Amino acid sequence: KPLVFSGVQPTGNLHLGNYLGAITKFVALQDSHECIYCVVDMHAITVPQDPQALTAQIREVTAAFLAAGIDPRKHIVFNQSQVHEHAELAWVFNCVARIGWLNRMTQFKEKAGKDRENASVGLYAYPTLMAADILVYRATHVPVGEDQKQHLELARDIAQKFNNDYAESIASNGFGEGFFPLPEPLIQGPATRVMSLRDGSKKMSKSDPSDYSRINLSDDADAVAQKVRKAKTDPEPLPSEEAGLEKRPEAQNLVGIFAALADRSRADVLREFGGAQFSSFKAALVDLAVTKLGPIGSEMKRLAADPGYIDSVLADGAERASAIARPNMDAVKDILGFVRRR
Ligand code: ATP
Ligand code: MG
Repeated sequence: KPLVFSGVQPTGNLHLGNYLGAITKFVALQDSHECIYCVVDMHAITVPQDPQALTAQIREVTAAFLAAGIDPRKHIVFNQSQVHEHAELAWVFNCVARIGWLNRMTQFKEKAGKDRENASVGLYAYPTLMAADILVYRATHVPVGEDQKQHLELARDIAQKFNNDYAESIASNGFGEGFFPLPEPLIQGPATRVMSLRDGSKKMSKSDPSDYSRINLSDDADAVAQKVRKAKTDPEPLPSEEAGLEKRPEAQNLVGIFAALADRSRADVLREFGGAQFSSFKAALVDLAVTKLGPIGSEMKRLAADPGYIDSVLADGAERASAIARPNMDAVKDILGFVRRR
């Protein structure tokens, strides 16, 4: 079975964008793929984190994975810092990637803001750690939201450059053509970029100061209803065809969310709601969102009461992840020409 890797940062409230863009994809791949799902805590500290809150958020993301339906016995669920090979390979990749490549990354520009001189070196190097996360398992498929596409292209460039630069050593160590696969992004469906409920031009994000911009997985039915009701729209009724969503980013966003939650296409949703006013469409969307997200929220609450269980899932996952990462990292060291203990 092909090997999948993906991660979510423990940086705050998980929202509908994380769920539709990433976590539902994680769940869907479990039958056809061997999957490794990681709570990327070392990515989280690229911006300031409160240590106690970070601990709680690591457990919360883990709980969300489990509540959404990821099976930690069949697949691997763990937090990044427990498998030190991620950091080790990231250093190697810092020496493979070029400064010019990283200078083109838009996420760094957005997250560093105006005060770039004061951003952490880790925030700048974020994409090389992400490449290491994937490639330390030699994973081939990576389900992510649209915003991570550029980082995935960088991971492919790093894999390719490593394979080229060390081609001879790779061959003489018995690894044939290339050591690293070029990982493929899996970015599909109607909700690969869920937008803010307040502003159809901004992605829904954990860090938006307005809680009304996002639906959190932990929101209760009342909160979901209020946020959807207040979501920005335009005054026109819904179009009956997808072409009518062009230049209507808020309408496009809500229809995309509905389609993804209902596992239908946008066109299909518009066949039902074309001509309807937003008030009635929003009411249907609230019902759907509460039906889909409610059970996940309550399961997350149930799991939150048992941190010992969560930590045991992470420890078990970390052990199984290490068993894959360690020999791969040893091979990288041999390819580089490092002397290592045998
Ligand atoms: P942060 O603001 O801390 O970066 P985030 O909401 O972007 O938080 P991440 O942990 O960085 O969350 O991303 C986890 C996964 O969720 C990634 O695959 C990312 O592409 C996806 N994702 C994040 N935001 C959205 C969104 N608005 N729509 C679809 N997918 C998203
Ligand atoms: Mg992000």
